[in-house]
Amino acid sequence: LLKAHGDDAKIIAGGQSLTPMLALRLTRFDHLVDLAHIDPLRQMTVEPDRVVIGAMVRQSVVERDTRIATAVPLLARAIPCIGHRAVRNRGTIGGSLVHADPASELPAVALALDATLTAIGPRGIRTIAATDFFHGTWTTALADDEVLTEIAFPTSHTGDGYALEEVARRHGDFALAGTAVALHVDGERITRAAIALFGLAPTVIRAGTAETTLTGISITALDPTLVGTAAMADAAPSDDIHATAEYRRSVGAHLVGRAITHAIEDARA
Ligand code: FAD
Repeated sequence: LLKAHGDDAKIIAGGQSLTPMLALRLTRFDHLVDLAHIDPLRQMTVEPDRVVIGAMVRQSVVERDTRIATAVPLLARAIPCIGHRAVRNRGTIGGSLVHADPASELPAVALALDATLTAIGPRGIRTIAATDFFHGTWTTALADDEVLTEIAFPTSHTGDGYALEEVARRHGDFALAGTAVALHVDGERITRAAIALFGLAPTVIRAGTAETTLTGISITALDPTLVGTAAMADAAPSDDIHATAEYRRSVGAHLVGRAITHAIEDARA
């Protein structure tokens, strides 16, 4: 259908981002291609080393699945921050990733965890690393005729620690700034550090400069405040009616520092 109708067709998943855009006349399409009844897209499998979630699995289904809190704790902590329960009841995991809002939690979680996304289209099936998926505000590596089918998240193991921190004006609002942090602590040393930023650039990004300063460091020598400041070297926030870029940068540095502290506590718990 996407191939037949080209630019006149758009996939609709949970409709929680697309419908408001249609209602506000920000976009229009002659055809909506509804994925709601494609059963393989609604499956979720929990394996020892990964959890594979079909693109059409509703956010609230993942939120309620008690296996996810243990297997992919960062995902379990992020989902309650998305909108309200009614939004999560309709919104899908895949829809949130493809919509790629720069202030969205799930793209940041996918980035921090090095998730892998699978897409199908007229040219076949391909897998895309999360680090290659998010290209800009509302734009991703997916072609117009491709469908995201599933996302694989690596599972948590001993020594892994996670934290998600954000600031929003009210619960349920998009974050003004936020971070998702995933660390691996071996003894006293941080051996893997992933810091994803949301609301702090035109798309979700990894704070590579701060990650480099963290990797290999002893937790006793660590100053989370300095790492938080370093993380803002990669940020490129903008002004809007909700907050200034300067405010976002200041809050972002604090959030990263706090998230690193919490992720280390989590890894050692
Ligand atoms: P849709 O709206 O149906 O689709 C979104 C886009 O993705 C469309 O372009 C569609 O064509 C494309 N798409 C969807 N699925 C696929 C697929 N499988 N393959 C290819 N393309 C696909 N989000 C947050 O992250 N944080 C928040 O705090 C937040 N707050 C919200 C508050 C409100 C009041 C509302 C209405 C929404 C909020 N959202 C928030 C957005 C919500 O998370 C959406 O569910 C999500 O962004 C889109 O998922 P969806 O399944 O509804 O997708």
